[in-house]
Amino acid sequence: MKQAPIIWTNVLLFSITTLFAAIGVPWYAMTVGFGWAEIIATIICLGYCGMSITAGYHRLWAHKTYEAHPLLQWLYAIGGAFALQNSALHWSADHRVHHRHVDNNDKDPYSAGRGFWYSHIGWMLRDYPGVEKPDYNNCRDLQKNQIVMWQHRNYLWLTIATNFGIPLLLGLISGNIIGMLLSAGVLRLVLSHHFTFFINSLAHIWGSQPYTDQNSARDNGVLAFLTYGEGYHNFHHIFESDYRNGIKWYQFDPTKWFIKTASWLGLTRNLRVVPEERIAQAKAKMQLQRAIAKVKLRPNADQLLQLLEQEYELLMARMQDYYQLKKQLLLQRKDKLVAQYQAVDFKQRYSEFKQHLQQQQQHWQRLVTAVS
Ligand SMILES: [Zn+2]
Ligand SMILES: [Zn+2]
Repeated sequence: MKQAPIIWTNVLLFSITTLFAAIGVPWYAMTVGFGWAEIIATIICLGYCGMSITAGYHRLWAHKTYEAHPLLQWLYAIGGAFALQNSALHWSADHRVHHRHVDNNDKDPYSAGRGFWYSHIGWMLRDYPGVEKPDYNNCRDLQKNQIVMWQHRNYLWLTIATNFGIPLLLGLISGNIIGMLLSAGVLRLVLSHHFTFFINSLAHIWGSQPYTDQNSARDNGVLAFLTYGEGYHNFHHIFESDYRNGIKWYQFDPTKWFIKTASWLGLTRNLRVVPEERIAQAKAKMQLQRAIAKVKLRPNADQLLQLLEQEYELLMARMQDYYQLKKQLLLQRKDKLVAQYQAVDFKQRYSEFKQHLQQQQQHWQRLVTAVS
């Protein structure tokens, strides 16, 4: 089969920046040395690029998980050009196709089914059919966004201005232009590229699948550190409209913390979250599926299967009771006309249902652990 033609601009860009980062940066570090100014500037620029992609390109524009003040959108648009990952419109068009046709080797632009190299960087090195020049029909909403379209039209000069201009300016301030160009310029760009690329490659290969096994996306706490929280990719692929990726308080998701903090400052609003009930149901369903697969191999399979089904049904029923009452409680809190005695009764029932659910959850957890 004839190979797809090479995209020389991308090949040269990735090769030259990688060579500078792998040879130029260590050579400079050994012969001249980097100071604190270069190190701090590089970390800040890296964070700015990364967050512009995760909070801006990904969670705001590609998935519309919240709304952002124009000021923030301008910052994302400039940071996205600085990160050199194509315009937000192009990036989002590709990403929406990725979600729609995830793992489909012919349609998903960076399908993990085609291997690590392809999904990491290979898909950008050749003009594979369907990958380059996507039509923007799946981004009609973004085509109405003036900031997105301004960035799209001015993308080329914006990338040059940011990638040379920002490090140059920082170098002028610190008094070390070459050092700053190498660190906050090239090294930052290469690291920023690969940290994002890991989401398409490793986050579809390495990690756990607590919510769904219908696609290759994985949850991975280690990757979350490098990707500003995007490592919780299994959750993201099943609940893409949620502004969070790491939903537990201890999960490292600085993008979520940033969006939430910005909402207190009035810079973001309408942060979308998936109902807790749906998340709990998805998790229990996966546990049931795994437990059934294990139990089927046991000699007393029929008996265990029956027990599993029974306990699962009970868990679902408890969940429904609890979440329904919780919803009513929230509504009643808004309704000031509710009589006091009714409220007390309600609260009592609520805590009872909560206790029932917690007991059944513990019971269920013990059961699925015992059979696995
Ligand atoms: Zn996504
Ligand atoms: Zn993905």
